[in-house]
Amino acid sequence: MISIIGAGPSGNYLAYLLAKKNHTVHVYEDHKVIGAPIQCTGIITPELEKIIPLKKSFLTNKINQAKIYSPNGNSLHVRFAKEDFIVNRTKFDSHLADMARKAGAEYHLGKRFHENQGKKMKIGEEFIQTDILVGADGPFSRVAKSNNMWCDRKFVTGNQFTVEVDCEAKLVEFWLGIGLFGWLVPENESVARVGIVSYDQPDLYLQKLIDKRCPGAKILSKEPGAIPIYNPKQTLQKDFVYLIGDAATQVKATSYGGIVHGMKAAEVLSRDMKHYQKNCRREVGKDLYLSLLIRKAMDRFSEKNYNELVALFSQEKLKQVLETKSRDYPTKFILDLLVAEPRLLKFGKKLLF
Ligand SMILES: Cc1cc2nc3c(=O)[nH]c(=O)nc-3n(C[C@H](O)[C@H](O)[C@H](O)COP(=O)(O)OP(=O)(O)OC[C@H]3O[C@@H](n4cnc5c(N)ncnc54)[C@H](O)[C@@H]3O)c2cc1C
Repeated sequence: MISIIGAGPSGNYLAYLLAKKNHTVHVYEDHKVIGAPIQCTGIITPELEKIIPLKKSFLTNKINQAKIYSPNGNSLHVRFAKEDFIVNRTKFDSHLADMARKAGAEYHLGKRFHENQGKKMKIGEEFIQTDILVGADGPFSRVAKSNNMWCDRKFVTGNQFTVEVDCEAKLVEFWLGIGLFGWLVPENESVARVGIVSYDQPDLYLQKLIDKRCPGAKILSKEPGAIPIYNPKQTLQKDFVYLIGDAATQVKATSYGGIVHGMKAAEVLSRDMKHYQKNCRREVGKDLYLSLLIRKAMDRFSEKNYNELVALFSQEKLKQVLETKSRDYPTKFILDLLVAEPRLLKFGKKLLF
């Protein structure tokens, strides 16, 4: 029996893949409703379509353009070769759980994992025996804590409101230099998810973005949450225990998106459990590590650096890279960027000085 703790995208997709291979799979989820409360913007690159077929049921919008604003008010307008998807996380997570159920996985909702002693888990008030335990239980993974796999884990905060605002329905806005960065992701031309990610003072930075972009906007809902910073030394596998997704810090530190990489990690784990850690570091870890280095360099940016960066990327040869390459896999285009514009190396040097 395989027990998966957490019915987010990573846990549900893993449950689907393993149940399809005829494993006995049980998923335990703390909340009574899958995918609620929402703590996510739900923007996913076209990579999603390579993982699962798209369904209207969970799609809120599709985006084909981005505007990236520098602190001096200049902007870079990018037109994506392939559309990004905006999903409703409650519907998206539920759809993945339905796929898993149809493949044979059993779900236990409103059941919190507390700890395990060896293969005996305490879930709610019950003690349950398992053969394999997977922590897909998000940033504050109790599975990681209970099995001494917490490692050196740090977090940023994502702070987001869904608001009424006039915006372009197919265009996402990124605001550099507000917290780590801010965003406006439209659901349609009058409702958008407006948020920031930051190391500290998330309320202050979100207010700053709202004051700048949509002062006084009517707040429809709030979706804040913690996001783990990728730790390349994170233990992913120990005896019969495995970690995936946010529980394993598998989030891109450039955009702080974790859905695609959590689902990729689920694929790697379902393929070969024994060599999961090694395979995952090779197949998923390289891009997460490069994203972390880029973030560490950007952490040292001044406002002037952001202004310079946006000016450099306004050149057609660089814009084209942004428009055509998948931002989930920076290892596939970082060299193209540096060859096209060697002045970008100046920003890489921030890692050293
Ligand atoms: C404000 C914000 C915006 C974001 N925007 C994006 C975005 O646009 N695109 C993107 O790709 N990523 C985004 N992210 C990150 C993304 O939400 C996560 O990377 C993603 O949800 C990780 O999926 P997961 O399945 O690994 O974990 P989670 O989605 O966190 O799922 C974990 C599940 O485990 C359950 N659980 C936790 N503890 C227990 C327990 N003890 N027992 C039982 N169940 C438990 C939880 O209830 C939850 O359902 C955002 C995050 C935040 C905070």
